[in-house]
Amino acid sequence: MKNKTKNIPFVHNYCDRWCERCRFVDRCAVGSSEKLLETELKMELALTEEKKQEIMWQHVANNFAETAQLLEKMIKEAGLDYEEICREVKENPPPETVLTDRQEAIKELTMDYAKDMMDWMEKNPKIFESEDLTSRAMVQKDEPEQFLNAIKDAIHTVNWFCFFISVKAQRAFSGKQEYIYDTKEELLQSDHNGSAKVALIAVGRSIKAWEVLLNAFPELDFVIIGYLAQLQKISRNLLLEFPDAGKFIRPGFDEEKYDHIK
Ligand code: SF4
Repeated sequence: MKNKTKNIPFVHNYCDRWCERCRFVDRCAVGSSEKLLETELKMELALTEEKKQEIMWQHVANNFAETAQLLEKMIKEAGLDYEEICREVKENPPPETVLTDRQEAIKELTMDYAKDMMDWMEKNPKIFESEDLTSRAMVQKDEPEQFLNAIKDAIHTVNWFCFFISVKAQRAFSGKQEYIYDTKEELLQSDHNGSAKVALIAVGRSIKAWEVLLNAFPELDFVIIGYLAQLQKISRNLLLEFPDAGKFIRPGFDEEKYDHIK
């Protein structure tokens, strides 16, 4: 089917979902819709929190309805019987994913990392608000403002990817079991390789962010080094499970023709 809009097809399937920072926000169906919601909420500043929640849920419901309509249209355009497919899925739901030992281990590692980190952050909500942060900033090689921004960004990053890694890894496991590919190219461009690549990118960015925090808060080395070790282990196992993940070409992000969009 031809893409009649300027949106990049499937770009949102292999991204980090961080729309406010994404260079493709105006070329992505999901990003544009998020932006619309944000504008709508900003215009409704006088509204109560309850009303804002109502607008947000309506927005989610509309998105689901649109996706369902689109799917129905695509199925019909492909000459298939939409009602028959719905009945088939209802009567024969797909079997639950049975994980291999290594997949189970990765699932556990990613969940442990996320839970450990969340617990620690919740128990220590002011851990990165050290009183002498400004004096620490003064002795850094970077400008103080740059240093403080880097810390803020690092905290945001580890939080953002905390559960994301597990979600993407698990999607990769189910994808690996669900499909059979006819060619090597199809296999390389499979959903499981794409999801694993995104999980690996999130691991890499989390590692970099923890390193920034370790540099700024050396007294937290015991905890931070623990998280770094967990992430390294996740990364090693993901690469063993999905050795070709790096070769997956993410729509938009890994395509040279979109390099001009900054
Ligand atoms: S591609 Fe960018 S704009 Fe679209 S959903 Fe992902 S992060 Fe958001």
